[in-house]
Amino acid sequence: MKTLFIPNGHNPDLRGNPEASIIHLPRPSRLAVVPSAFPFVKPRLQVKEGDRVSLGSSLFEDKRRPELRFLSPGGGTIETIVFGPRRIVTAIIIRLDEKEEREFFQPLENEDLETMDREELVQHLVKGGLWPLFRSLPFRAIADTKELPDTLYVRMDSHQPFSALPEAYLQGHLEAFRFGIRVLKKLAGQLAVYTCAEQHSFVLNECQGVVNHTVFGRYPAQDPGVVHYHLRKKGNTGKAWFITGEDVLLIAHLLETGTYPGERTYAMGGTGLASPCHVRTRFGAPVSHLIEACDPLEGNFRNIAGGLFRGRNAGQEGFMSMYETSLVRIPEGKEKEYFGFLRPGLSKNSVSRTFLSALFNRPARVDCNTHGEERACINCGTCTRLCPVEMLPQFTMKALHADAIEEALAHGLLDCVQCGLCAYACPSKIDLSGIFGSAREKLYQEQQKGA
Ligand code: SF4
Ligand code: SF4
Repeated sequence: MKTLFIPNGHNPDLRGNPEASIIHLPRPSRLAVVPSAFPFVKPRLQVKEGDRVSLGSSLFEDKRRPELRFLSPGGGTIETIVFGPRRIVTAIIIRLDEKEEREFFQPLENEDLETMDREELVQHLVKGGLWPLFRSLPFRAIADTKELPDTLYVRMDSHQPFSALPEAYLQGHLEAFRFGIRVLKKLAGQLAVYTCAEQHSFVLNECQGVVNHTVFGRYPAQDPGVVHYHLRKKGNTGKAWFITGEDVLLIAHLLETGTYPGERTYAMGGTGLASPCHVRTRFGAPVSHLIEACDPLEGNFRNIAGGLFRGRNAGQEGFMSMYETSLVRIPEGKEKEYFGFLRPGLSKNSVSRTFLSALFNRPARVDCNTHGEERACINCGTCTRLCPVEMLPQFTMKALHADAIEEALAHGLLDCVQCGLCAYACPSKIDLSGIFGSAREKLYQEQQKGA
């Protein structure tokens, strides 16, 4: 067992953490796929409104890599195809039938797994629509089916506020998880399955022989990009892919049953819910369906799918996408706070401990208010102190503003894991991680054109 200590990072202690208990929800009437949530994918639709689809039938493919298939999470009729700016497909909504039809794929027995070669297994996962779960570093694009990674990272848990707990998503699925890990062993040179040791003794006890790394550190120490960065310093170089523990279960389901997975466990958190907990429901379920199960409070709240720091605003009518395993509901925070600057901030959250809340050991309240407009960088160094991959975010940002891309790369732009911490803590309200995200995307596109 390897142990890794990650300096920097930050663990905000916030109200609204989900309980480990799980509520099993009835089937929603509609499900959706969110194509815009897949990194660097240009969808070519294979269905139109009114078409009938089955659970596991193809909805669209990637124009650049047509071998990548994106499948329907349910059986029924295509109700709406929602387009965003520049005709980007933002959602394909399916109204479910009473009796959903499903596609069948070849299931795998344990012995099949021993005898089949790697290429066959890759094709199995591509055909079953779960290949997009594998993503490669540093760009986090969907992994290339023709590549062999040196290391495949499996992230079991995260310190990102309100994330899914392994004891919840693994409940009743430990055997499937072990089967999924056997599958992964065929796909990569080596597996690095890791957990944050200080929090989850459950994983260490229940997954003995599977978990081979423990990571100590604050958010986002458990991010595969961060783990890879620090292992690389110890000489572990080479091509790296990653996947999450929750997604290992989806792979196991596909291969064991021969059907596209229909269900997922979601962590529900935030102060906009009276009973934050975990819910088990259909893959691609509506946000409103999940929220209703946790006693939502009345008021002006934002629903963030995919985690507090890295998630997207899913709105009130949105749907969960393939990579999202948590939904956070927090106040918009647009209300005016009279004489806010004179208040002691007993319930406010602050990285720099400038509020009196720092004196008390109790969870703080978080909302979407930035408490000010963007200003010029004051070189306070807060972003550098927090950055888990030892970048100099303020200098990287300035290099990008000056179009000095080589300088930005020298500062570690490709190591950025877009954890959002620097932007969260910046007293000048600069959206550093957003700036780095756009620059990385541009770099990836240029790299693809040159390839
Ligand atoms: S935290 Fe913001 S203001 Fe401070 S150095 Fe970084 S970019 Fe500049
Ligand atoms: S520069 Fe990137 S990795 Fe570093 S704190 Fe900001 S978002 Fe996170």
